Order: sequence, then C-alpha cells, then structure tokens
Amino acid sequence: MTLRLSAVTRRFAGGTVALDAVELELPTDAYVCVMGPSGSGKTTLLRIVAGLEPLDEGTLSLDGEPLTRVPAERRPVHTVFQDHALFPHLDVLDNVAFAARIAGEPRERARAEAAALLEELGLPPQLGARRPATLSGGEAQRVALARALVRHPRVVLLDEPLAALDRGRRAELRRMLHRLQRRHGVGFIHVTHDPQDALALADHVVVLAGGRVREQGPPAELYRRPRTMLGARLLGELTPVPGRCDAWLRPERLRVLEPGVERGRMTARVIRVALLGPQWEVELELDGQPGLAWCDRPPQGERCDLDWDPDDVLSFPS
Ligand code: ADP
Ligand code: MG
Repeated sequence: MTLRLSAVTRRFAGGTVALDAVELELPTDAYVCVMGPSGSGKTTLLRIVAGLEPLDEGTLSLDGEPLTRVPAERRPVHTVFQDHALFPHLDVLDNVAFAARIAGEPRERARAEAAALLEELGLPPQLGARRPATLSGGEAQRVALARALVRHPRVVLLDEPLAALDRGRRAELRRMLHRLQRRHGVGFIHVTHDPQDALALADHVVVLAGGRVREQGPPAELYRRPRTMLGARLLGELTPVPGRCDAWLRPERLRVLEPGVERGRMTARVIRVALLGPQWEVELELDGQPGLAWCDRPPQGERCDLDWDPDDVLSFPS
C-alpha cells in the first residue's frame, strides 16, 4: 500500500525547480502530513500526484502500478481544493453525488450514498437541499470531504484544508479528518503549516524545502528528535539552551524552579508570564539571551532557576 515517487522533478519557466529529484514512499493506508516553508513545492507535489501537473522527470506508481501516464480523471485520487470547488448550481446532495452519477450510478442511489456520507460528516439532512453559496466555511469543507470520499478513492489530497477556519472549527474538523481516514482506510496526504495538524493527525510527516525532502518520519520523532533545524521549527517552538547558541530545547523541557526551593543549573530573569491555556509561558533573559519556558506553575518572583535534562538537548549539523 504505497505511493511511490522516484526522481520526480518539476521545473517552471523562469528556472524555478519546484521539485528536485524527489524520492518518496508514502503509505496509502495512513495519514501523511507534508510541511515546508512557502514555495517549498508542497502544492506542486499534490498536483503531480493528482495528475494536474506534468512531470519533467521521474515516475509515479501506486502499489507497484505505474501512475505517471494515467490521466487525472482516471487516477484513484481525489483532491479537496482550498476553495472547495463545489458546483454552485447544484444542491449539496447533488454535489456529493456528482461523481457517482458520472460513473453511471442511478440518481436515487447516488443521492442515498451522498446523504449517508453527509450524516457521517455530522451535517444535518436538510443541508442536502441547500446551494453551496449558503454554506459556512466549515460546512463547505465537510461537503468537499464527503465529495472526496464518495467514489472510494485510494488517496485523498488536501492542501491546507483547515487554514481558513477559526480555532474551534479547526480542532473539530481535525478530529473528523482523523476519524474519516481511519474509518475509510484511505490514504490522506495533507499539506499543512500547523504543527498541531501534523502532531494530532499524521502517521508520517514529510518536510520539504527548496523542492527536496529534508526530513521525514513519525511526528513524535520529528518533535522529540528532529534532525534538521527546519523540521524542528516546523513541528514546534525552540528555545536556546541557556548559555549556548548551538543547542536547543523544546520550551516545555526547560524547567522553571523557584529559587531557594529547588536549585537549578542557572538563574534567569523573568521578563513576562502569560497563560497559554493548559500551560504558562515564561519569557526569560539570561546574560542578554532570550529564552522561553512552558510550565504548569508560573514563577512567583523576578528571577527563577532553570534546569533541563541533557537528553532533551537538540543540536543540528550546520
Ligand atoms: P508551496 O505550495 O510549498 O508554497 P508551490 O508548490 O506552490 O509551493 O511552488 C513551488 C515553487 O514553484 C515556487 O517557487 C513557486 O513560485 C513555483 N511555481 C509554482 N507553480 C508555478 C507556475 N505555474 N509557474 C511558475 N512557477 C511556479
Ligand atoms: Mg501551496
């Protein structure tokens, strides 16, 4: 169950190499998140898998079957576009049923399948009769997902699907994406810049930069033991190890202690304390160097002691 990209290269006019000899083996029964700075080739990668963008070099295959020359409409791949691309003149149910209708299914059966999917996505049955223009962003996103799943594709491609939603809706839809991927056993390839998406959803994370794969692996591994500074920063925040400029910690690994109660390795000045929700964020200063710690209890005074476990220290080859 693998989508394989071998030496995939895509160049654009003007000399941009959007993908540069990319080698990837992605599981198609799992949730994959693709991360990378803007312009790193994420969208181009999805468009190439969808067949919407030609390759200049390289090959694609799905479970050993060549995919490179299969036209987009015959690939078992469905793209959920950022603007949802729903048909404005069809009601929601016909939008979801559309692909099944094109494939020759009778209208009533296609609409019944569509209705079942809308229900699975937590949408009320009355919504099926509405036009896309009357939907909220979150509703339209769910309809687009229902439409992606109706023809049982092998791979669903999602380009920043949660970016336009507010925080609450994003968390809700994130849980739904995870359930859908697991329940339908479809491969999801989801481009995101939000570490929360990658940490909560992905079985496998791919980090792209400059059209190349820089790092990949399970998200917990990339979080705890990133091999590149880029991977480390895409998955979460870093703070310098006090007194060093070539080593970092995750902020929750920098322990903040009350001076005089417990003794740490160093003492720092507390610049600012803020409640983030589940944790406190403490901005620190030590010998002119800034620091950041996340902790359960904020320090009480103007100074605090700092401690950390050497095993948590991250450093990267330059
Ligand atoms: P990302 O989605 O990671 O932001 P893209 O895949 O959209 O990156 O783009 C990768 C690079 O290719 C960028 O430098 C972008 O400007 C360039 N690019 C993308 N599409 C085209 C195009 N149709 N014509 C020219 N350059 C393009
Ligand atoms: Mg993009």
